Amino acid sequence: MAVLEIVEWPEKVLETRAQEVVHFDDALRKVVQDMHDTMDDHNALGLAANQVGVLQRIVVMRIPYGRKDGPRMWWHDKRFTLINPVITKTEGRATLSEGCLSFPGIYEYIQRADEITVQAYDEQGKKFEVSGSEYFSACVQHETDHLDGIVFVNRMSRLKAALVRKKLQKQLVMSQGE
Ligand SMILES: [Zn+2]
Repeated sequence: MAVLEIVEWPEKVLETRAQEVVHFDDALRKVVQDMHDTMDDHNALGLAANQVGVLQRIVVMRIPYGRKDGPRMWWHDKRFTLINPVITKTEGRATLSEGCLSFPGIYEYIQRADEITVQAYDEQGKKFEVSGSEYFSACVQHETDHLDGIVFVNRMSRLKAALVRKKLQKQLVMSQGE
């Protein structure tokens, strides 16, 4: 088990496009395992490789089922590894509250597609396709954005994004002053 260090904004790797995975080998499977360990350690719902400083198109996800979550969905509590994910279908619009390990303490409502279908490869190189809505959908879109170098602040209104950037810069100055 290895918990990797989380890269926080404004590190450039968060705004850099990650490269397609070509070799489905033991080195890849080690990164995938470490990413799952890191996600679990932080009680996060998802993690993209950029967030641990790896510029490869790898996403891990696990969305726990909580009592306030409404009906239990097929994707609740299920562990996902999405390599080279491509969203092939989107439908509707929905707004959910999102957070991000790379933006500690920031939670904002983001509007995204309501339902999505995503194609990806698992760590053995086997292709699969899954569809889902709600938190599954928001999480896949949030994490695949990371792979394209897009952070969730870019999905906020201009005013909200400016406020978040200002807040984070203030936190950064304060932590450097300690
Ligand atoms: Zn994130």
